[in-house]
Amino acid sequence: MSALSAPYMHDEAAAFEFVESVLWPNGAVCPHCGGVDRITKVKANPEKRIRVGLHRCGDCKRQFTVKVGTVFEASKVKLHLWVQAVVLMTASKKGISAHQLHRVLGVTYKTAWFMEHRIREAMRSGDLSPFGSGGGVVEVDETFIGHDKTIKPKGEKKSRGHAHKHKVLSLVDRDTGRCRDFIVDDLKKATLLPILRENIAKEATVYTDEAGQYNKLGDEFEAHNFVSHSKGEYGRGVVHTSTIEGYFSIFKRGMKGVYQRCEKKHLHCYVAEFSFRDSNRVANGVDDHQRARLALAGAAGKRLKYDRPHV
Ligand SMILES: [Zn+2]
Repeated sequence: MSALSAPYMHDEAAAFEFVESVLWPNGAVCPHCGGVDRITKVKANPEKRIRVGLHRCGDCKRQFTVKVGTVFEASKVKLHLWVQAVVLMTASKKGISAHQLHRVLGVTYKTAWFMEHRIREAMRSGDLSPFGSGGGVVEVDETFIGHDKTIKPKGEKKSRGHAHKHKVLSLVDRDTGRCRDFIVDDLKKATLLPILRENIAKEATVYTDEAGQYNKLGDEFEAHNFVSHSKGEYGRGVVHTSTIEGYFSIFKRGMKGVYQRCEKKHLHCYVAEFSFRDSNRVANGVDDHQRARLALAGAAGKRLKYDRPHV
């Protein structure tokens, strides 16, 4: 069966049932009082303006749908369209532009843009456990992307080099295949070290390239090995950063080809999107359907509060 023909992609009641099955695996939970025992489903009735997916809590007597407290809350977009957007975004390796989503879903460009931002928020991982626990291997590398408009170019060398670009530090836990990214202002050791200490277990072995900022990481972790790209060396057996470089190549191609430009204040959202797909890729045992479910599960507890047009 085509992934696009699933009922929850087309039918609003089926979409609610699907999202409820992901967010309430053990039955409905009242978002107002936390009650689980006396919840009843209210039958949808358009004439009485009773919405699809409405539930009533017998404990606090209040009503709610599964959208309460999620990134879908307060959205006028039908839930089955949200599910379509989640499926498209989680299955497209390099992402899908808001223009494309606007055409495919038949919503306005502005709506598509806000939907994408909220879905990225759902993809943001809350996992903070250190990589390389139990003595695993962690690859560390950095990349440059786009143009950081907050940096004023100095002298003639304005667009040369990478001083004016956004800097992204990434870690990959080679045992789990998961990656984690950080947008950093510079690549000084004093900037990077606290991030590495916080996100990599002491007993881990760390692989980097020969860049100066990674000097003496052996003092911080169980072991540190590096490859010398300047000497044409790309790996010695298990010592390499190829996993992370493969991830960077998808990230950069997606950012350049699909999203084109990105302001610094939004970059972390895009990074979260690519990191989510990479951490939950097929090679890590996650298929398209499971990936969409994981993104939906991440929609909970992340209601966006900043001012925005209603979509
Ligand atoms: Zn309640």
